[in-house]
Amino acid sequence: MSLRGDFFSYLAQTSQSPLGLEIESAQGQVLIGKNQRRYIDLISGISVSNLGHHVPEIIKAIEEQLHKHTHVLVYGELIQDVQVAFAKALIQELREPFEQVFFVNSGSEAVEGALKLAKRYTHRHEIVAFEGAYHGSTHGALSLISDENYTRPFRPLLPSIRRLRFNNIDDLKEISSDTAAVIVEPVQGEAGVRPAKPAFLEALRERCNETGALLIFDEIQTGFGRTGSLFAFQQYHVIPDILVLGKALGGGLPLGAFIASRQMMEKLTYKPPMGHITTFGGHPLSCAAGLAAFKLLLKKFPDLKVKEKSHLFQYLIKKHPFIKEVRASGLLIGMELINEEITQKLIHLLLENNIIADWFLFSPQTLRIAPPLTIDNETIIFVANTINQLLMHLEKYEQR
Ligand code: PMP
Repeated sequence: MSLRGDFFSYLAQTSQSPLGLEIESAQGQVLIGKNQRRYIDLISGISVSNLGHHVPEIIKAIEEQLHKHTHVLVYGELIQDVQVAFAKALIQELREPFEQVFFVNSGSEAVEGALKLAKRYTHRHEIVAFEGAYHGSTHGALSLISDENYTRPFRPLLPSIRRLRFNNIDDLKEISSDTAAVIVEPVQGEAGVRPAKPAFLEALRERCNETGALLIFDEIQTGFGRTGSLFAFQQYHVIPDILVLGKALGGGLPLGAFIASRQMMEKLTYKPPMGHITTFGGHPLSCAAGLAAFKLLLKKFPDLKVKEKSHLFQYLIKKHPFIKEVRASGLLIGMELINEEITQKLIHLLLENNIIADWFLFSPQTLRIAPPLTIDNETIIFVANTINQLLMHLEKYEQR
């Protein structure tokens, strides 16, 4: 059978309509498929490949680590220089109040760890999350999702979850002395790129201070330069108690982390000891890749001109009756069209034109444009012109 046939036969599917494209290799801002067909990557593996694909510095670091050792023992027992070096580099950049990194395997797992840490530290049980948020697919993280279509079949989920409206300051009074933590994305990703209003995050920080609830920022999708600063919270001047990272953290390999003060983190070491454990968390290959990617990002970041590229994209996309709104936070851009059907058609037409785009989980009518931050201006111009032309084509076609 063909590879495509085997894909559908042997791999469990996540939906009835996967993209189903054969990919043989990837380079820079391009994915290379069957017969050397080259596709422009507009989604970076969902905000993972922020520095593009096949980055020599990252490959070299992985190779060097591969020859030293891979997995040696469950996370946290042995001193592995690459884990220590990466944690140190992250803390030196993030600074106060962040002092210690707990590495795990994925974004969802980092969210789980952060929720457990908040409960253990505060001795409280309630978690507050916001409508439209996405924090992952494991039971705890799933419990935070407001869209019942995704949660109903998997009940019972975590109890004591309170959901408030995003960007609604009035609702924040619901946060109380029962609240262990409030978890929020500074820019909601899967809701179709919805940035928090600065006044909202400031009021949220204040309310958490008043009630003693911990503030958790989920920067799994917004971290590592995606929104135009290294981390989105740096644009808001609001500092969370716990920072949750994933996706681009591992430089293309699987890695997640939650980061907090030493005083908080030490609660996971007693009553019970090993309050949170993982076999593969902080895998040395992932830490080597992540550290190399982080160093490179720090060096290159000013030259990546993320905000300028975002503005260029937005400037070049022509007004069109099918476009309802374009929302952007750096190179996390959501182009909301008038309905889901048009967005799906546009995604398919883009693919025919060798451009891979996508939609958002809770906003299927919004086109996802989140290319590697290394995308060049010529490619941005080409992609924007193609989108403009395809929208005109779709409009003509719809009028028939
Ligand atoms: N939080 C946010 C904001 C995300 O975008 C995602 C993944 N899309 C997750 C959590 C979950 O991460 P993972 O898929 O690595 O478990």
